[in-house]
Amino acid sequence: MNIWRNKQEARLAIQEWKATNHKLALVPTMGALHEGHLSLVHAARKKAERVVVSIFVNPRQFGKNEDFGRYPRQEAKDIALLQEAGVDGVFIPDIDTIYQQGHATGVQVQGSLTEGFCGAFRPGHFEGVATIVSKLFLQLRPDLALFGEKDFQQLQVIRRFNSDLDIDVEIVGVPTLRDSTGLALSSRNAYLTTDELAIARQFNGILRQAIEQAIATPQSLAKISRESVENLLRIGFTKVDYLAFCAAENLQILESLSDNSRLLGAAWINKTRLIDNFPVV
Ligand code: AMP
Repeated sequence: MNIWRNKQEARLAIQEWKATNHKLALVPTMGALHEGHLSLVHAARKKAERVVVSIFVNPRQFGKNEDFGRYPRQEAKDIALLQEAGVDGVFIPDIDTIYQQGHATGVQVQGSLTEGFCGAFRPGHFEGVATIVSKLFLQLRPDLALFGEKDFQQLQVIRRFNSDLDIDVEIVGVPTLRDSTGLALSSRNAYLTTDELAIARQFNGILRQAIEQAIATPQSLAKISRESVENLLRIGFTKVDYLAFCAAENLQILESLSDNSRLLGAAWINKTRLIDNFPVV
C-alpha cells in the first residue's frame, strides 16, 4: 500500500495506474476510521480497480469554538485498517500540500443546500468542506468518489459544486452504517461516556418514530418535529440544533411529505454534537 504525503508523489503513482486504464475511486476522510468509513472502502473496491483513501483533519471546516483540537487522531491504526481493507494508496497530505502560503480561494455553494441545517449552525463549515474536497478532486483526479449518507447535507453540497464546476467526478452516496442499536457510527462517538452513549443510541429511534408518524397520519410535519425535539430533550439530549423534514434534492423544509423527503437531525449531549438522517420511506 502506497502512503503519500504530498500531491507530486500521489500523482506519479496515479498516472501510472491511469496509463493501464485502471479506474480510480477516492474516499475522503478525516481519519479516526471505523467500520462506517470501511464500508465506503468496500463499496469503492467493487466499483474501481484502484482505491485511494485520504486522511486530512481539515482546519477550515471547523468553527472557532469547535472540536478541531480534540478531534481523534490515530494515524498508525488508520493505516493498518486500510492495509487490511486492501486499499491501494493512502493520501495523508501535510498542511502545506493543502493550504500553501497565501491560499485565498474558497468554494462556496449558495442557497438552500447550505443555508439551513448544519449550514445555519456551523458558519463556514460547508465552504471548508467544498474547498478541501474540490482540492482533493483536482489533486488526485479520481474517476469516482464515495461519501456517506450519514453526512447527507455534505453529500448534496458535494454533488452540487462537482456538477456546477464541471469537475465531473462520479459521486457515489453510501448508506449509513449503524451499530446493533441503530446508532450511526461516527468518529465523534468516541467522545461519549457510557451514560451519554445510552442516550445517543435513542436518537435514531426518535427519528424513525417521527417518520412513522408522518407517514401514518396526515398531521403537520412541523408539529411532529416539535414533539420529536421535546422527546430528545426528555431522554437526555441537552440541546437540539434542528430536526426537520426536507426535500432531499434541495433541502428545503417541507410542510407535507413529497416524493423524495428526508428527515435530518442534529443534537447535543453535553459537549458532543451528533447528526443523523433517514429517507422517508
Ligand atoms: P469523516 O471522517 O467523518 O469526515 O467521514 C468520512 C466519510 O465517511 C464521509 O463521507 C462520511 O459521510 C462517511 N461516514 C462517516 N460515518 C459513516 C457511517 N456510519 N456510515 C457510512 N459512511 C460514513
